Amino acid sequence: MAEAIKRILVTGGAGFLGSHLCERLVAQGHDVICLDNFFTSQKSNVTHLLDKPNFELLRHDVTHPIFLEVDQIYNLACPASPVHYQFNPIKTIKTSVMGAINVLGMAKRTHAKVLQASTSEIYGDPDVHPQPESYRGSVNPIGPRACYDEGKRCAETLFFDYHRSNGVNIRVVRIFNTYGPRMHPYDGRVVSNLILQALGGEDLTIYGDGSQTRSFCYVDDLIEGIIRMMNGPDDFIGPVNLGNTDEFTIRQLAEMILELIGSRVRIVSLPPVADDPTQRKPDIALARAKLGWEPRVKLRDGLARTIEYFRGLDLSQYRRPTQRTSPVIASSAH
Ligand code: NAD
Ligand code: UDP
Repeated sequence: MAEAIKRILVTGGAGFLGSHLCERLVAQGHDVICLDNFFTSQKSNVTHLLDKPNFELLRHDVTHPIFLEVDQIYNLACPASPVHYQFNPIKTIKTSVMGAINVLGMAKRTHAKVLQASTSEIYGDPDVHPQPESYRGSVNPIGPRACYDEGKRCAETLFFDYHRSNGVNIRVVRIFNTYGPRMHPYDGRVVSNLILQALGGEDLTIYGDGSQTRSFCYVDDLIEGIIRMMNGPDDFIGPVNLGNTDEFTIRQLAEMILELIGSRVRIVSLPPVADDPTQRKPDIALARAKLGWEPRVKLRDGLARTIEYFRGLDLSQYRRPTQRTSPVIASSAH
């Protein structure tokens, strides 16, 4: 039987993940409202959807209430890259906390189901490896990443309190490093940074000795996981980890990018970044068991697609959300 058409709000819908999510939901025939303040994105991510009758674009800031009638809400609005979320840390906390309160209030009023895009950052610099959902984390509450980590932790708390106190139908996904086409070219994240540096013939910058690890998930896999979680059984509300379990050091990532591009530029080591997690890899046993989900795209294949995307990008069409593209450069300037 065909799935019933729903009215779906995607906050942060013009961003990297949000634009892929909107695309999938529009293709499924749903009525999609994409809400964004365009802090770390621009309209061009969703221009191809603008002429679809089941797509609507709203410029709005989630820290302010908004009244819409919807059946589902995906709450993705929040700057996600360290250089962007540290640019105005107080605004980042407001976005996470007040944004959560506003979408939860809307869900309570409309009886919509609401999904929170949480993050592996809630585990901080983990001393349990890989990280299962039961691990409570090791976050520095007063460090430079706290505005994001603690904001997202508080949002999770709000989601579970609205669920327990008001019966709101929630879902919480903890997203691990995700990459792919439509990452912002100036977001300073490792994948976009290193690819653009290699394509531009510049040295690749590694913060610290490059032995810190991450596990990189291709965007298509991640979006599939988010949609499955939203539409999964009501007795499984999360939190659930979504990410790829193949773990790489940042140096290995840099070497793979150079090999794929066929570049001979150098890999240079810059000073380490404060509170940079030393290792990160999701335990996805829960997602496998409850959602039948696991990532399919290998890093090498996903990187090749992402490199092709960045090769074709006209950088002159992109505004820098902030002047900072590197926490190292920013901190050494102080
Ligand atoms: P992104 O920066 O591309 O997207 C975030 C979007 O939210 C942008 O379009 C931005 O303009 C918008 N936004 C920011 N503040 C807003 C506000 N106050 N009001 C309205 N819109 C606002 O980042 P992304 O990678 O697409 O991340 C999307 C979500 O997923 C974020 O909540 C992020 O924390 C979460 N997440 C992403 C990753 C990842 O690796 N990509 C990992 C963990 C969690
Ligand atoms: N990093 C790096 N060089 C860069 C950008 C990032 O070495 O040009 C490192 C960063 O210090 C971190 C990892 O790559 O250890 C991932 O950084 P990113 O900003 O992509 O995301 P994070 O997982 O830290 O939120």
